[in-house]
Amino acid sequence: MSWSTDYSEGHEGWAASVTPDGRRTGSSTGQGMLVEGITGRYERDTTLPDYEVVPHREIIGWQGQCECGWQGELWERVPSAEEADAGRRKVHLPLEKSAHAPEAVEDAIGDEWLEHVAPFGAVAGVEAAARDYAQAGRRLDKTVAAAKAAGATWADIGRAAGITRQAAHERWADK
Ligand SMILES: [Zn+2]
Repeated sequence: MSWSTDYSEGHEGWAASVTPDGRRTGSSTGQGMLVEGITGRYERDTTLPDYEVVPHREIIGWQGQCECGWQGELWERVPSAEEADAGRRKVHLPLEKSAHAPEAVEDAIGDEWLEHVAPFGAVAGVEAAARDYAQAGRRLDKTVAAAKAAGATWADIGRAAGITRQAAHERWADK
């Protein structure tokens, strides 16, 4: 599962499983998590020649990833339920289980990722407003030209635009 928003192009996020040697993956086979790269420490995948299979039990935790390079903090896998402490990102997942991020961890990482993309959403708002602003400016120029052509004075136009006659003249006389 991955996350994206309509305002954050280039920021597809997901929760990766982390191997003991620091590699990250989101896919698995029956035997373990599929990890790109051949180190010789693990068995090779039978169908993907560039991938090794890291046994589910060896996955050390989970971490948010984003297409842009952002990484969340590690959610550490602890060996027993007693050591689990979600507030300190310590989560128990039995060794025999598939080592994808447990649902609660995936949700928490999703929230971290949303926080990561929040500034981009806010900037998208600025972008939209700037576009409207530029468009309104062009409309203003056009209506001033039309008013002038219809015989309005710079004083009339300035009053309508909320500026002085002089300012109106300086802004539009050359257009
Ligand atoms: Zn990102």
